[in-house]
Amino acid sequence: MLFLFIFEENLKPIFMQSNVQKQFLLDTRYLRMAKIWAENSYCERKKVGAILVNGKMIISDGYNGTPSGFENKCEDENNVTKTYVLHAEANAITKVAKSNNSSEGATLYVTASPCIECAKLIIQAGIKRVVYSEDYRIADGLDLLIKANIEITHISL
Ligand SMILES: [Zn+2]
Repeated sequence: MLFLFIFEENLKPIFMQSNVQKQFLLDTRYLRMAKIWAENSYCERKKVGAILVNGKMIISDGYNGTPSGFENKCEDENNVTKTYVLHAEANAITKVAKSNNSSEGATLYVTASPCIECAKLIIQAGIKRVVYSEDYRIADGLDLLIKANIEITHISL
């Protein structure tokens, strides 16, 4: 019995380390998927992709673009992003709202760090973790997520 105890205690750090490594590999792969998904965006100034994962299952996806039924053009004649363009996170979250899935406890993978408007949606959708690759020009979205105790992971691709 004593031997078993020592054996398990010795194994624990190795086991934990491998779980961390496994999670990092999974996170990197989902983030790469989000990056590939961003290629769907018609936006010319910036393409952002998002993947929503809950319990090892992809439950939603999104990329930045105009609402359903609108012309697939994000910028106006002055190359300014139209006010009604939805961000990738907003598209992924609202897509879940139309489905039978739940975002409660989910992880959001997004190629750019969320803005303040998307951060509000992330909190209200019950998302518990955000993994992103590029820093958005303003960090107030991340600050809000941290205040809401949402786990943030930054991985450079
Ligand atoms: Zn946003």
